[in-house]
Amino acid sequence: MAAQFDNSYARLGDDYSSPVQPTPTREPRWMLFNDALADTIHWPAAWRCTDTTLEQLAGNGLLAGSEPISTVYAGHQFGSYNPQLGDGRAILLGEWLSETGQRLDIQLKGAGPTPFSRGGDGRSPVGPVVREFLVSEAMHALGVPTTRALAAVATGEPVYRTGMEPGAVLTRVASSHLRIGTVQYFAMTQGGEGLAALIDYVVDRHFAQPWALAEDAGGTATNKATVLLAEVGKKLAVLVAHWQSLGFIHGVLNTDNMLLCGETVDYGPCAFIDGHNPDRVFSAIDVQGRYAYRNQPGIVHWNLSVLAQCLLPLIHDEQEQAVAMAQQLIDAFPQQYADAYSGFMATKFGFDGLRPDDKALVDGFFDVLGSDHLDFTLAFRWLTELAQDSVDQSPIADLFTPSAALKDWLPQWQARRAGTSEEAIARMASHNPVVIPRNHHIARAIARADAEDYSVMAAYYSRWQHPHQWLAGDENLAAAPTSDEIVHKTFCGT
Ligand code: AMP
Ligand code: MG
Repeated sequence: MAAQFDNSYARLGDDYSSPVQPTPTREPRWMLFNDALADTIHWPAAWRCTDTTLEQLAGNGLLAGSEPISTVYAGHQFGSYNPQLGDGRAILLGEWLSETGQRLDIQLKGAGPTPFSRGGDGRSPVGPVVREFLVSEAMHALGVPTTRALAAVATGEPVYRTGMEPGAVLTRVASSHLRIGTVQYFAMTQGGEGLAALIDYVVDRHFAQPWALAEDAGGTATNKATVLLAEVGKKLAVLVAHWQSLGFIHGVLNTDNMLLCGETVDYGPCAFIDGHNPDRVFSAIDVQGRYAYRNQPGIVHWNLSVLAQCLLPLIHDEQEQAVAMAQQLIDAFPQQYADAYSGFMATKFGFDGLRPDDKALVDGFFDVLGSDHLDFTLAFRWLTELAQDSVDQSPIADLFTPSAALKDWLPQWQARRAGTSEEAIARMASHNPVVIPRNHHIARAIARADAEDYSVMAAYYSRWQHPHQWLAGDENLAAAPTSDEIVHKTFCGT
């Protein structure tokens, strides 16, 4: 089968989306094109770094087969319900069917106003495009489910935020952009058939297999709404455990930023922790610390309960029954999260599996990291080098100095890991990164891109494709930021 567009969401009808055209731009210029992703999704060679494609990805003309729409959704933003959001700065060109039948949304972010643009112009400055490209692609290389970045183009036109900034458009790829907020919108405005049609669509697109299995086995999933809730819960539990294991802070975990397919989306004020602090918040708008590092699992659980509430009328005709069934699925989340987190911790500490009495050891390590503000990423890589008996030969010894408390903690870990397998050590080395997209690097790539130099962005992108390897000359890239370099706040920049 030849790869092509096939736009099933547009066919759901105009309750779900509105046709929209990208707004032309004056003088587009390539920032970066992701050939590796293009290969994976069987993107045609003629649609890569050509002049025509540059124009199309900047909003001047359309790729063959695309039917651009903007989709409607709602969402809880910082806990308050907003009944209508929608793609205000994103335009869905269509769904790309790869040669293997994989269906992916191809979206332009920053290509001009849509019917859902609120108080904005639908444009994006260069900065957020650079951040999203770099961080989402690094997350993918780290093994975290995420939306991807196919291309970034500068528009050659200014956008006005706090001042004038150069504009850019990101081409984003996702299994879909359907979110908890999409379900919220249809639950609140339509209920009944309008909601049921959406749930049918989502389950058929993302969870057809569990649904079929459950039907065959006369399984516990009694209908598509319960399949959806159960499967989304499982995916999100693993996703947030993965974030925690890397010290990744999403920054805006509103329900409209939680994809039902379980991919990380919306790299606005996100950041990786440098010196550990479980209360760390980067987002300039998160004044209450709602989305602090330590709160992320609880917030995702809360977001799942919002999804459950929307699905109640489809779960069972009797409200009491529906609530009981939904509650059971929501209550499964903490254990699913704990299991996933234990799995990641076993890997990061070089164990074959985590035992119940390991909790004190793991918690003790994070307590030391937090109280001594040790670098999250380097601390785990230092342990990895110790486990491999390579710490003396590795540049890590110059980059990371264990505190007295960490040296006190160490013997317990050494005793515990005695006798663990070679595989466990190998897994440890392939899960504790050497290099991650640190905030000060991103800031540097953005500053250069603002001055129309995209070479730093390209270099970081390439390097972060292999995060678990030491490469010659990595000292600067692997090091924690100096006190001058620390980034204290991040901004969505929309
Ligand atoms: P976000 O912070 O990306 O989750 O966006 C929240 C809402 O604001 C979404 O409905 C966006 O579509 C909308 N939005 C964000 N930035 C812009 C912009 N530059 N122009 C129009 N709408 C925007
Ligand atoms: Mg969003």
